Amino acid sequence: MKERAMPTDIQAPTGKKACVAVLATGGTIAGQAETGTQAGYASGRITVDAMIGSVPGLSDLADIQGEQIANVGSQDMTFALMIALADRINALLGDGAVEGVVVTHGTDTMEETAYFLNLTVKSRKPVVLTGAMRPSTAVSADGPLNLYNAVAVAADPRAAERGVLVVMNDRIHGAHSLTKNNTTSVETFLSPINGLIGTVIYGKTQYFRGPFRRHTHTSEFSVAGVDRLPRVDILYACAGMPADLIDCSVSRGARGIVVAGDGNGNMNAGAIAAASRAAGQGTVVVRSSRVQTGTVIRNVEIDDDSRRFIVSDELNPAKARILLMLALQQDRSLEELQEMFYTY
Ligand code: GLU
Repeated sequence: MKERAMPTDIQAPTGKKACVAVLATGGTIAGQAETGTQAGYASGRITVDAMIGSVPGLSDLADIQGEQIANVGSQDMTFALMIALADRINALLGDGAVEGVVVTHGTDTMEETAYFLNLTVKSRKPVVLTGAMRPSTAVSADGPLNLYNAVAVAADPRAAERGVLVVMNDRIHGAHSLTKNNTTSVETFLSPINGLIGTVIYGKTQYFRGPFRRHTHTSEFSVAGVDRLPRVDILYACAGMPADLIDCSVSRGARGIVVAGDGNGNMNAGAIAAASRAAGQGTVVVRSSRVQTGTVIRNVEIDDDSRRFIVSDELNPAKARILLMLALQQDRSLEELQEMFYTY
């Protein structure tokens, strides 16, 4: 496959080591267990300096500066933390000395933080999330090589302008496309609709494509000076879904509802009626899917035009929620919101 030209505003390799900031937020990569072979462990115990120090050869790839942003399991990731992370990355990459950023993060919500940063970091430089499925104390812990590969990608000028990336298990995923797919396996992340951005094997990178959607420096979204985002709920459709969950979300002040629909974003007749009522009262209703792969298409079995629903296109419910939260920072028409789901 033909490799694309180097972006003109990104420096070509000079032989001088790049400066890469490693921002640690916790997760299994910083996790610890009593023994090397047990399933139970605690996330977010190891410090960023200990993590960096445990990877042989890391300082040959780049000059590393570590920063501890948080030390939590990513099930406890908050939007306040995500905003702080975006602010810090924007500051680091804006100052010129830092060529790339690595964020270490738990894998549970890694796709959400990656997509959030993909929409709110304002830089062409590489931003790479990585983590681990096995704690640092495990036999065959996967964190050290993932961190090594993530730093290699962050230090690589050819990774620039590809949006926020996730490096896990030798794969380079795009923030828009990746999703966690297995509860325990080291091969947990897939990019099932659009495929991989590239691979990285013991620090050697290869790229197949750039992201197809708008991201980072071409995104219109910003969280500068923002301290809270509008409430958007996700509701999971299933046989016999109780429609009053939708009424409850509206009554609790949700500005948007993302339905993790069955199949092509479907829900039962009662839920459709409740969602129509919600849309009629001004709550934005997005139909996404609980299915791992495939797009949600307008007006298939549900008449989105008359019901004033939006479809998520390729975004899974967790990422559709993030896009809607950022989009609802200002008033927009349903047509504009729908277009955003085709654009980002
Ligand atoms: N709950 C942990 C987390 O997301 C486990 C997943 C992991 O990091 O692999 O932080």
